[in-house]
Amino acid sequence: MNLPQDFIEELHRVLGDDTQSYVRSFSDPPFRGISINRLKTTPRQLLPLLDFRTEPSPFYQDGYYIPSDVQKIGSSPLHHAGAFYVQEPSASSAVQLLNIEKGDYVLDLCAAPGGKSAQIASLLSGSGLIWSNEVVRNRASVLVSNFERMGIANGIVSSCYPDVLCPALSECFDKVLVDAPCSGEGMFRKNPDAVNEWSREHVLSCAARQLSILQSAVSALRPGGIMVYSTCTFSPEENEMTVRQLLSLCPDMEPFPIDEPFGRKTDLDNAVRITPLEGGEGHFAARLRKSGSGPRRDLPQNKLPPQPREMLRAAEEFMDDIFVRRPDMSLRIIGERLYLMPKGISSLQGLGVIRAGILAGEFVKKRIEPAHALFSASNPSELRRVLPLTLDDPRTAAFLSGMEIDCSAPKGYTAVTIEGMPVGFGKCSSSTLKNKYPKSLRLS
Ligand code: SAM
Repeated sequence: MNLPQDFIEELHRVLGDDTQSYVRSFSDPPFRGISINRLKTTPRQLLPLLDFRTEPSPFYQDGYYIPSDVQKIGSSPLHHAGAFYVQEPSASSAVQLLNIEKGDYVLDLCAAPGGKSAQIASLLSGSGLIWSNEVVRNRASVLVSNFERMGIANGIVSSCYPDVLCPALSECFDKVLVDAPCSGEGMFRKNPDAVNEWSREHVLSCAARQLSILQSAVSALRPGGIMVYSTCTFSPEENEMTVRQLLSLCPDMEPFPIDEPFGRKTDLDNAVRITPLEGGEGHFAARLRKSGSGPRRDLPQNKLPPQPREMLRAAEEFMDDIFVRRPDMSLRIIGERLYLMPKGISSLQGLGVIRAGILAGEFVKKRIEPAHALFSASNPSELRRVLPLTLDDPRTAAFLSGMEIDCSAPKGYTAVTIEGMPVGFGKCSSSTLKNKYPKSLRLS
């Protein structure tokens, strides 16, 4: 592996005598991992179902190493059902440092494709709120689709610049994560081509952008709230120096020391670095706190347009047909679409919001056609009709491929679960389930 000399010199500043061991590590396979999604399962239920070995990761309470040669993990029915998120092990460390508590409102400012948002939602267990923002619009769509797979109901996805979003959400969050775009040095073992894009100029331009994102992020945090800043790069300019600059520019931010037992120490007591020598591809995370204390502010609310009565009545009937016990969320009709929104969230405009809560269905000629997300985020015990499948049932692969399958459920819209986890739905009639698994997700 030919690494640029400038990069080796930079690395020497952070790794010292370990630099050569790092360079030698390029002959080993990269670390791989999963983070388990507690919205769908638990480690105890999931681990015996996996057909590969796992080992607990030191970086995250629900993180596990998987073998480097596991093939086609994204096609696994358990992955389709949102049981886990495939995540490089050290990338999970940042969320562990956020000290998520039930009921927290959390902003993930640079969120796509969504691994860290998935962790946050799992730790919130349906309480509080996860607001995931991604400035690049088509990457934000990937975020929506990952929210649906993981079954996240208490979430908002937006695509907005941090300097617009954060002042508009001033002091609305207990926790803010800034997993900033960076020069990606921690990806070099996984993606050797990325080395060719490395330059000192790129490192410095990333550092300037990171500082600007962080300065915006501060305003969204309530007094006493916690912020974690993370990157997947080793450079001190993008990491320690950026944190120092933020602290000098924002006197209301203070270091919040880290005592978690992982990674390698840095010369900041509130930051940790993980390299292949500590068991991860590469991550840096720093923890800060906003001085003072105080409650978070309410999210800004726009006045709700009147909800069309006829449509609302149809929506109530639709929900009663699907649920025995309805989720504790509000029904909202926006245009032809029906949403289930977290309580207390009405309408959010002008902040690039592309999803709030769950898309429940769409009005088509006075009928409501249910949406995939409604079933994927459901609790099967609250549904009227469920078709439970197991991993060894041939109907599981058939359903995920979009085929009609045998179904003994009563007539009507029926959730499909795999090993108890909701994965999608179909329409059951005459002992057959008409498949409604979205075409874009089907196994080919
Ligand atoms: N947190 C994500 C996860 O765990 O899946 C990974 C985030 S990635 C390291 C950084 C993200 O920042 C990218 O999706 C990128 O599109 C976004 N980004 C790029 N420029 C940005 C900017 N100026 N402000 C905010 N985010 C930006």
